[in-house]
Amino acid sequence: MRSFRALADLFADLERTSSPSRRIALLAAFLKSLRPEEAGAVAYLLRGQVAAPFAGMEFGMAERLAAEAIAQADGSSVERVRRMLSSRGDLGSAAEQLQPAGSGHSGSILRVLRELRAIASLSGEHSQAAKRDALASLLADASGIEAKYLVRAVLGSQRLGVADMMYLRALAKAYASDKDARTLEAAYSTFSDLGEVSRRIVRGGVAALRNIAPQPGTPVRMMLAGRARDLREITRRMHGSMLIEYKYDGERVQIHRDRTGRILAFSRRATNITDQYPEVVEAIAHSKIPKGSILEGEIVAFDPHAQRLLPFQQLMQRRRKRHIEAYVRKVHVALFAFDLLLIGNRSLLNTALLKRRALLRRYCRPGGVIHLSECTLGARLAELERCFTEALASGAEGLMVKAASGPYQAGRRGWLWIKYKREYQARLADSFDLVIVGAMSGRGRRAGLYGSLILAAFDPAANRYYSLTKVGAGLSDRLLRELLSLLRPLRLSECHPLVESGIRADLWFRPAKVVEVTGADLTLSPVHTVARSRLHGQGLALRFPRFVRLRDDKSPEQATSVAEIYQMYRSSVSGSAARQ
Ligand code: ATP
Repeated sequence: MRSFRALADLFADLERTSSPSRRIALLAAFLKSLRPEEAGAVAYLLRGQVAAPFAGMEFGMAERLAAEAIAQADGSSVERVRRMLSSRGDLGSAAEQLQPAGSGHSGSILRVLRELRAIASLSGEHSQAAKRDALASLLADASGIEAKYLVRAVLGSQRLGVADMMYLRALAKAYASDKDARTLEAAYSTFSDLGEVSRRIVRGGVAALRNIAPQPGTPVRMMLAGRARDLREITRRMHGSMLIEYKYDGERVQIHRDRTGRILAFSRRATNITDQYPEVVEAIAHSKIPKGSILEGEIVAFDPHAQRLLPFQQLMQRRRKRHIEAYVRKVHVALFAFDLLLIGNRSLLNTALLKRRALLRRYCRPGGVIHLSECTLGARLAELERCFTEALASGAEGLMVKAASGPYQAGRRGWLWIKYKREYQARLADSFDLVIVGAMSGRGRRAGLYGSLILAAFDPAANRYYSLTKVGAGLSDRLLRELLSLLRPLRLSECHPLVESGIRADLWFRPAKVVEVTGADLTLSPVHTVARSRLHGQGLALRFPRFVRLRDDKSPEQATSVAEIYQMYRSSVSGSAARQ
């Protein structure tokens, strides 16, 4: 049985190593030495988690409480811990410094996972004190390096920078071959639980991951759309007939009815949002959807009397953990169902969209809060133009055009689904979902707040973030104040090792928060770094950016990718050359 100490040493090696191939090799060598349950545990602990994200096991521990636990374990004062925190920059490093070097031992990886799970599941009255005491006793057994990663885990600040795809590549290296990487990725897309993928491959080799079906209760990674510059591009990219659907501006949801009949709803980030939409859950419970089924749709704010779509901002009020009942009465919602992935435990991932849609119509009858997305079957530009005008007139944000015979490609952004939005008409560039990696301090009216945010795109292949722009426009004072508290726990003393930017920021953050911005166009820049390796040393920058909204439904790895931005730049350059 591997010790937690060995895992903490691996974490330290990963932190010191920046080369992606070296990081994969380190991880693969470690994974190779594990039993199935241990590999599952490592998949979670690497990201500072104790279970798959959709299990909803979170520590919910404030820095203050963790500081008290460290002081308790060490027999020193909270004051001393605080002093150490300000000299070391983060509480994990402070704990490492305070624990006597090399002494103590936390035991096995599985024991630590068990203890951490026990801390995460404490709830109710007095749970905060109980969490502090449990953490203190775990830390009392730990060596310095173990304490560092235990504290970072409970604070949600484990910043090892191992993205999902990097982890899967390491797993493939350890238990399969490079050519099996696609099989692992497909398995992970079918059930988004890296722990389960790890357990299965260690137990049964890559064969155990072939031809697997979605499991109700475990989210399927959502299929995503490519973006078209104009409607004509859609007709060029789509071969054969297409299902032209309205694109609703709300929250994507994947609804499961598991084998026991229980209903669960998952967000785009695969988090459990069942409690947020009780009226949708109830409507599905009364529908004809059988046990062992998964459907998808968009939840939007909706006026039931006028049968009218309402703006996205209204739906934001429903994103809450408390006072849900009051807001159910205040902000009405509707579900626009558009896909069916599993029906009565039969996978439909490889079934053509038109067939999936026919089954959806049969089992998910419209009525009450349930609607089916508006759609038409077509093949020509004129049909796209007509639907687009109708979609906008109905309050939708554009079109989602889908290959009628296409499968459901879990976790992939391809050209079987193509989106075209209202904004694309007015501006050269689309909106971008970017990660906050730094900020400039505000001056004048914004003194004490941020003046602007430095935003980056993600490159999954390199597992790194590249800066694209600095946004100040569109940020209200209220939002800036909210950002202060959202970003404070993510503060770093220097640029995060996975971030590349030529900007000298006043403040740096761990890449965690995603925001949506629009911009006028993409230009070459000496300080921003997106696609620099493809553009002879110059990076791409987004000009005249404007903040649109926070995208809490996206994880940093789901931000707009460097490849997408590069493609947009290429098509804008060739577009303007063609117009000249
Ligand atoms: P965006 O920021 O444009 O909403 P995204 O990055 O969240 O996009 P994409 O795959 O690029 O995801 O765009 C598709 C999104 O559009 C879906 O995630 C879903 O939330 C939303 N949507 C609205 N209507 C539909 C529809 N009819 N079919 C599929 N997706 C739809």
